[in-house]
Amino acid sequence: MGFQLTSKDYAEYIRLAYQKIHENGDYITSLDAATGDGDHWANLDSGFRRLNEMAGDLETMSLFDEFRQIGRTMMSVIGGSSGVLYGSAYLEAAKILEDKETIANRELYQVLSAMLEAIMSRGNAKPGCKTMIDSLYPAVECYKACMAEGVSDTELLERVKQAALDGAENTRNMEAIKGRASYQREKGLGNLDPGAVTMSYQLEILLNYALGKVER
Ligand code: ADP
Ligand code: MG
Repeated sequence: MGFQLTSKDYAEYIRLAYQKIHENGDYITSLDAATGDGDHWANLDSGFRRLNEMAGDLETMSLFDEFRQIGRTMMSVIGGSSGVLYGSAYLEAAKILEDKETIANRELYQVLSAMLEAIMSRGNAKPGCKTMIDSLYPAVECYKACMAEGVSDTELLERVKQAALDGAENTRNMEAIKGRASYQREKGLGNLDPGAVTMSYQLEILLNYALGKVER
C-alpha cells in the first residue's frame, strides 16, 4: 500500500536518472542552444556521470550522508546555475532525512518541498520565470493536493509525475524572467526551458521508481 525508498534505492534511482539524461543529450543541447549558452546538458551529464560512478558508495551511506554527498558533487561537478541550484536543493533536502532510514510518502513530499524552497531562494526566482522551478513547483503543489484528497500512493505518484511533465511543457508559453534566456529579445517564447525539461526527467524517473516500489 505504500512505498519505502532506502539509500540503496536512491542510488539505483541515480543510475536510472543518469541513463535518461545521458540518452537525451542532443535534444537538451538543442533546447539550450536556442535559449541559453548550450552547456546545460553537458554540465548536468558530467554531474550525473560522476554520481553514477559513485553509486556503489552512495548506496552504503545513510540517506542523510547520501543526500549531502550528492549535493556536494552536484555543486562542484555540474557548475553553472544548475550546479549551485541542485547542490543547494540536495543539501537542504538532506536535513529532512537526518535519522531517517527510508523515504516514504510523507518524506518524499518534504524532500521535494525542501528542494523547491532551496532552489527558489538560492536563484531568487518564482514559478512562471521559465526555469526548472516550473516543473518542480506544480509537482509539489499536486503532491500537496493529493495528500489532502487522500488518494492512493499509486495515483498520487502518477499524478505528481504528470504535473512535472506538464509543467515542463508549459514553459513553451512562458517568457523568461530569470537565467540567460531572459537576455534574449523573445525571452525564449515558443521554446521549452532546458532546465525545466531535465528537472521533469529526474522527477519522472524518481516517481516511476517509487511506483515500482509500491506494495499493493
Ligand atoms: P547557466 O548557463 O545559466 O549558468 P545552466 O546551463 O547550468 O545555467 O542551466 C540553465 C537552466 O538553469 C535554465 O534552463 C533554467 O531552468 C535554470 N535556471 C537558470 N537560472 C535560474 C534561477 N535563477 N532559478 C532557477 N532556475 C534557473
Ligand atoms: Mg548554461
